[in-house]
Amino acid sequence: MSTQSNKHYKIAVLAGDGIGPEVMAEAEKVLQVVADKFQFGITLTPALVGGAAIDATGEPLPAATLKLCKQSDAILFGSVGGPKWTGLAPDKQPERGSLLPLRKTFDLFCNLRPGQIYPAFADLSPLHPRVSSLGMDVLCVRELTGGIYFGEKGRTETDAFDTQRYSVREIERIAKVAFEAATKRSNKVTSIDKANVLQTSILWRETVERVAKNYPGVTLEHMYIDNAAMQLIRSPQQFDVLLCDNLFGDILSDEIAAIAGSLGLLPSASLNGSGFGLYEPAGGSAPDIAGLGVANPIAQILSAALMLRYSFGEEDAACAIEQAVQHCLEQHIVTRDINPKSTYGTAAVGAAIVATLRQENQ
Ligand code: NAD
Repeated sequence: MSTQSNKHYKIAVLAGDGIGPEVMAEAEKVLQVVADKFQFGITLTPALVGGAAIDATGEPLPAATLKLCKQSDAILFGSVGGPKWTGLAPDKQPERGSLLPLRKTFDLFCNLRPGQIYPAFADLSPLHPRVSSLGMDVLCVRELTGGIYFGEKGRTETDAFDTQRYSVREIERIAKVAFEAATKRSNKVTSIDKANVLQTSILWRETVERVAKNYPGVTLEHMYIDNAAMQLIRSPQQFDVLLCDNLFGDILSDEIAAIAGSLGLLPSASLNGSGFGLYEPAGGSAPDIAGLGVANPIAQILSAALMLRYSFGEEDAACAIEQAVQHCLEQHIVTRDINPKSTYGTAAVGAAIVATLRQENQ
């Protein structure tokens, strides 16, 4: 590929299982088009992961795949897992055996999950019509490598415990991501905690308030997790950026996905402190529709847009993809998860997004 700039990005493409390879093929086409249009180079190198990797090598994250990831500027991930591999030991399972080591290896402490209700498809939301008509455009910023999932654990016959621990450093770095993100959105951060009962939440609140002083243009509010879970259902339009620890973010990001209505539309990004990231759809490998050519490629394509924005700083290219997706949604060029009567398949939706991007001034 010839480019006028010398910017060139190396991307490890880990399509995985089920619908992963089908939707990844469309994301790759979209990336090639925006690379041409916005004058940067890309190298897309595929590698095995998940069940496909277990079948070929016995490991869900083969050494060659990890090596490729280390040599790349970002990882574009599909999805892993399926009924074929559910009987394996936990650390050999496709999901646990690939995503957790990747998060650990690259210190991917920050998970970004945008959730939107698209006006044209507000009826997809289970909260339609009263709440979905209010709209929703939120970004959930979740701490991903600390907290109760990683603290000391114990179990006897009659007792069990999990420990929640957070350091100022861990809270500061995730809070900074949330405030930075808010400056590019609607300048509001809602920090989620349970500071009425948890020591870690009190430290969380104090630290977030300190970080907020560096962002005078951003409004900060604190909200208890129980209230936030309720407010999201009652009036999701009040939120912009939600800043959450690992546990609360796990719960709220799924609540946001449920309110948005379709897993096929939701991308996610997991980042470290130096801009390296793993980008993947919020949904899984969807074995029920794998191989049928009907999977929605939009979550994978929007994950590629997040990669361009957060790892490469290619904001114009990222926005162009998001606008092309929006355009296709407005034209009702959608797969059947969005409209059960639709005759558009994965490739047709991908082709429509590519065609939109190729048009001038879209
Ligand atoms: P799932 O997200 O794969 O599917 C849930 C439902 O959503 C299914 O009906 C599916 O058809 C639909 N769906 C999901 N993505 C879609 C898309 N792009 N287009 C159209 N419909 C879509 O969740 P599940 O069924 O609970 O899990 C299936 C497998 O995926 C399991 O093995 C699970 O472990 C794995 N999984 C992997 C990841 C990951 O790779 N990060 C995440 C979640 C689940």
